[in-house]
Parts: sequence; structure tokens; C-alpha cells
Amino acid sequence: MIQIVGGGAAGCEAAWGLATRGIACRLVTTTLDALYALPAEVWPTSPPAGTLWAALAAEVRDPGGGTRAAVLRRAVKRDLERLPALSVLQSNVVALQREGDRVVGVRTWEGPVLRADATVLAVGTFLAPRLRVGRSQERAGRLGEMAYDELRDDLAAAGARFVRRRLAVAADGVTPAHEVAFDAFDPEGTTPLRWDGRAVPGVRTWPGRSGLWLLGACAEPVDVDVAAAAGRDLAAHLAASGAPA
Ligand SMILES: Cc1cc2nc3c(=O)[nH]c(=O)nc-3n(C[C@H](O)[C@H](O)[C@H](O)COP(=O)(O)OP(=O)(O)OC[C@H]3O[C@@H](n4cnc5c(N)ncnc54)[C@H](O)[C@@H]3O)c2cc1C
Repeated sequence: MIQIVGGGAAGCEAAWGLATRGIACRLVTTTLDALYALPAEVWPTSPPAGTLWAALAAEVRDPGGGTRAAVLRRAVKRDLERLPALSVLQSNVVALQREGDRVVGVRTWEGPVLRADATVLAVGTFLAPRLRVGRSQERAGRLGEMAYDELRDDLAAAGARFVRRRLAVAADGVTPAHEVAFDAFDPEGTTPLRWDGRAVPGVRTWPGRSGLWLLGACAEPVDVDVAAAAGRDLAAHLAASGAPA
């Protein structure tokens, strides 16, 4: 069982890539209605080949009722929930569950420990984030999506090092201009995944910790198409390296 924490572009693609290969996996994310959420203003021209997003491109290009971003969110939820190998759970992860240097699962805000053979952290812009709109500031990783500091604090206590990153978007007619500052794993303390002789963009490991993968914007700066491709590539890598089907 592979567990993915975070249902942004990277986490959703990893879950889809694993589950469509019949590999048992669980996607844990704070808000099921915000799966694959993107600021409308950063919409790229074309999704990467071989992704869930590409599979939904025609449906999303001509959205009917709603914006492309809203149609994509709904379609992703529908298609992930239909996959027998995948369970999708709404919860907030507050800590890694460790046995020595091995990560054996995660602890949720509600209390239960969710065990897994491998854990993928795809928590994006949500490690200790501060979102600023005009003069007001809140603890949120995206507009309207609250976040808490527990997971960052637990990772720091376990020896993780972070760098502070910033992302900003302009007003897009639907949402106001805003900026998010958040912690991301320090590239100096992590290592890119190398597969088939090349580094896979957007996928890193934490030397000395086994059973753990770092994916997407929490691992390194990624545009959304790179985050989606990173999820696709990590799923392919885990499948090729013998993840249990
Ligand atoms: C202000 C802003 C500006 C941006 N500008 C650009 C841009 O210019 N170009 C571009 O291509 N992209 C831009 N993006 C998108 C972004 O940078 C990434 O490209 C993309 O969102 C990365 O996807 P991700 O899956 O790594 O992370 P995210 O999309 O951040 O997804 C992380 C997911 O993890 C979940 N999560 C977080 N913590 C927990 C937890 N403890 N427990 C359970 N679930 C959790 C969250 O709810 C969220 O669903 C911007 C985003 C923001 C917020």
C-alpha cells in the first residue's frame, strides 16, 4: 500500500498513475472538494502527456457549467473515486509515523495512524504557510484553504531543513491578487530521484529516511505542469521498482 499525502496536481497524478496500474494506494488530503485545485490565472496551455489531466482535457477545454479549474476539480474527484485500487480520504496529516529511520505511515489530526509501505508527501504550499491578501494575513496554503503548522513542526523535529518560498498571483476576475509564503524542503538536505540515468524533476528523497518520497512544490519549485508530470513519473517509477499490485 502506497500512501500519498496531498491532493494537488502532483498527488492526484501519483495516485491516478498507481491506481490505474492496479497498485493499492490511499490519497489523504485536507479537502476533497479542492482536489487538483489551480489558480485560474496560472492555467498552462497544455497538460503533460500521460496524465489524468490530459485524459480530461477535452471535457475541461469546453467546460459547460463553470470555469475550467472548477470543472477539472469535479472531474478529477469523480475519476479518482471510481478507481478500485485507490481509497481517497479527507483528513489532515499532522506527523510522520516513524520506526527508526523508516517512515511507516502518517498520523492524522483526528488521531488514527495510517500505515503504509511507502509514503509520498505532496503537500505543496501548505507547510507553515502564510497567505496575504491586501493587508490581511491568514494561515492558508491557497486562497480559502486553511493549513496548520503541525506537520512542518514534526518534520523539523525529525531533522528536516526548510527554505522559505513565495508565490504570488494577480487578480483573475474570480479571485483577488494574493501571495503565499511557505516552507519547502531545502534542496541541500534532499536528493533528486534518479531514474533511467536522469534526475526526475519535482521528485526528491530525504537521505537517511526510507519509505518516504517528496513530490511537487514541497520538494522543489515547480510550475503546475511540472508538478503533474512529477506525479506521473513517480507512479511509473514506483510501479517499475516493484510496488505491490
Ligand atoms: C499563490 C500561488 C501562485 C502560483 N503561481 C503559479 C505559477 O505562476 N505557475 C504555475 O504553473 N503554478 C503556480 N501555482 C501552482 C503551484 O505552484 C504548483 O505548481 C502546484 O500547485 C503544485 O502542485 P502540488 O501538488 O505540488 O501542490 P499543491 O497544489 O499546493 O497541493 C497540495 C495539496 O496537499 C494538501 N495538503 C497540504 N497539507 C496537507 C496535510 N497536512 N494533510 C493532508 N493534505 C494536505 C492540500 O490541501 C493540497 O490539496 C501557484 C500557486 C499558488 C498558491
